[in-house]
Amino acid sequence: MSMPDNDREFWVRCDTLFTPYQRRRDWLLHIVEGKIRRMLPATGADDVPADKVFHRPGAMVAPGFVDLHVHGAAGCDFMDGTEATLSAAAATLARHGTTSFLATTMSAPQARLESTVRSLASFRTSPAQGARMIGIHLEGPYLNPLRSGTHGTPFLRGTDVGEFRRLAALSENRLCRITIAPEMDPGLKVVREAAERGIQVSLGHSDATEEQTIAAIDAGATHITHTGNAMRPFHQREPGIFGVALTDDRVFAEIIADGVHLHATTLQLLLASKGVDRTLLVTDGLSAVGMPDGNYPLGDKTVTVRGGECRDEEGRLAGSTLTLDRAVRNLVEWLDVPLHEALTAASATPARSMRMGDSIGMIRPGADADLIFLSRDLVVLHTMVAGRTVYSRAFSDFQTQTSDRKT
Ligand SMILES: [Zn+2]
Repeated sequence: MSMPDNDREFWVRCDTLFTPYQRRRDWLLHIVEGKIRRMLPATGADDVPADKVFHRPGAMVAPGFVDLHVHGAAGCDFMDGTEATLSAAAATLARHGTTSFLATTMSAPQARLESTVRSLASFRTSPAQGARMIGIHLEGPYLNPLRSGTHGTPFLRGTDVGEFRRLAALSENRLCRITIAPEMDPGLKVVREAAERGIQVSLGHSDATEEQTIAAIDAGATHITHTGNAMRPFHQREPGIFGVALTDDRVFAEIIADGVHLHATTLQLLLASKGVDRTLLVTDGLSAVGMPDGNYPLGDKTVTVRGGECRDEEGRLAGSTLTLDRAVRNLVEWLDVPLHEALTAASATPARSMRMGDSIGMIRPGADADLIFLSRDLVVLHTMVAGRTVYSRAFSDFQTQTSDRKT
């Protein structure tokens, strides 16, 4: 069977399957109408019609990746995305194994944020187009100018509950997450309001002390945005937000594992402190993802990309060109993280952290058939979203590559 696209019911034969928690050899997934119906060993499954089995020999099958922090791809910045450019970004993300993502905004004046949220709210990826946008992540504007990173300081401000409510209403329930500096939220009103509405609160771009960070977690914050970047550094007598990120089991810590944002030893420290069930890989990827070196927009700024490193006009790190397949390879290659753990940090953990673990991020009965097929050197060969092929690397490419390696 070549492509299962138009089949409402088919089987996927997995030489190796990562759920991602468990590894299984020679296993079958029964896919019905975009969802995983059953999982069973291939041996003994004699009633499965051979022409309904999709198989990429030698590939490892894993759940599609879930990126909770990405600003764009393929030349598209989610601040200005049109229907066509958003679709191109979704297709590029899928080539790198991402099957679900939160479109992330930059800090901006109120009117601009409102129009961005309105246009993102109306965007729906059609099946077979690419990764699925599961919602919107507002990065700012309630961030600390002291830790602005590349967010324009004129746009940063203290929280405004009225504005937050308007943005939530405009998003038509698609606002899933907001990054806030808790010290910019007097009385933690927006933290509480967001948590009550089921909108995930992530702490970041922040100079918060240990005490301020813990107060925000008590009020409902559950995540830390790009841990170690744009935040008060650790000090032995004032561990600050970074110290709390490492030690408080109530929060999930985002990491950008590109070798630029975090030193390998810092990555090790984070993984040793939190484990992969509390650490999630994000890309913080820009419109430059999947594009050559050059200048690219990020909100109202221009970012220069050289050798994959992104810097703003002032030379500060500004997002990345990282993709989640590369982040997984980096953890495995640099830190010897076991593959199932690296895959967990890119799929099951972000999905669980969004309380979406029943439908995405895991291969289990009832979940969406969001599947990726990886070569032995962790190159994405094939991606399915809800059982539909959204990317397939030609068999011939793969065969050339594997035979090259043998020689
Ligand atoms: Zn940021």
